[in-house]
Amino acid sequence: MSDEKRDAKHRAAMEKQKASVDASIAAASVDRGVAILLTGNGKGKSSSAFGMVMRALGYEHKVGVVQFIKGEQMSGEELYLREHCPRVTLYQMGTGFTWDTQDRQGDIAAARRTWAVAEPMLQDPSYDLVVLDELTYMLAYDYLPEAEVLDAIASRPASQSVVVTGRGGGAALQEVMDTVSEVREIKHAFTAGIAARKGVDY
Ligand code: ATP
Ligand code: MG
Repeated sequence: MSDEKRDAKHRAAMEKQKASVDASIAAASVDRGVAILLTGNGKGKSSSAFGMVMRALGYEHKVGVVQFIKGEQMSGEELYLREHCPRVTLYQMGTGFTWDTQDRQGDIAAARRTWAVAEPMLQDPSYDLVVLDELTYMLAYDYLPEAEVLDAIASRPASQSVVVTGRGGGAALQEVMDTVSEVREIKHAFTAGIAARKGVDY
């Protein structure tokens, strides 16, 4: 094919694509916060959530981050937010959580304490973005009542967006969320013996 023909073909294809994109943009007329689930077994769920935190902060939005993890390992995002973003409310489940089923009651108590921080954020219209990092495990282990959590997400203020991360999460959670993305592992450095890295993995 001559260069001229290729150029013309490309132009026609791009015109068609532009018309389709423009029509989709025009059709997306609902203006409200979105609920996003980032799930799957690959790396990138929490990093993606913190990418959105950075985006929101760029517009001086009010952000809340609640991490349903033990929190003994410091993370770069935690260090940065605590040092440079006093306006971001950051809460970690922290001590008391063991993943040890022998202390199931302790785990449940820790999960409920953490949920008691998250739930009011989901009712507070001054928060533009709420991140519920690793929340899915609390549902998978039945540490939090699913109906209560899903109801809080669904009935949050219209202007508020929420991001939930973690593997699994179940069909009911997926149903409540507007956007669901699965990060699938194709390969991970750790499997090849490369140690978790500061600033990359934590
Ligand atoms: P990240 O915080 O890096 O975005 P993630 O939130 O997708 O990861 P988690 O299951 O929360 O994944 O795991 C947190 C830690 O485990 C990170 O240090 C991450 O690099 C590492 N990790 C994530 N996925 C894998 C995997 N498939 N194999 C080994 N380590 C993983
Ligand atoms: Mg994570």
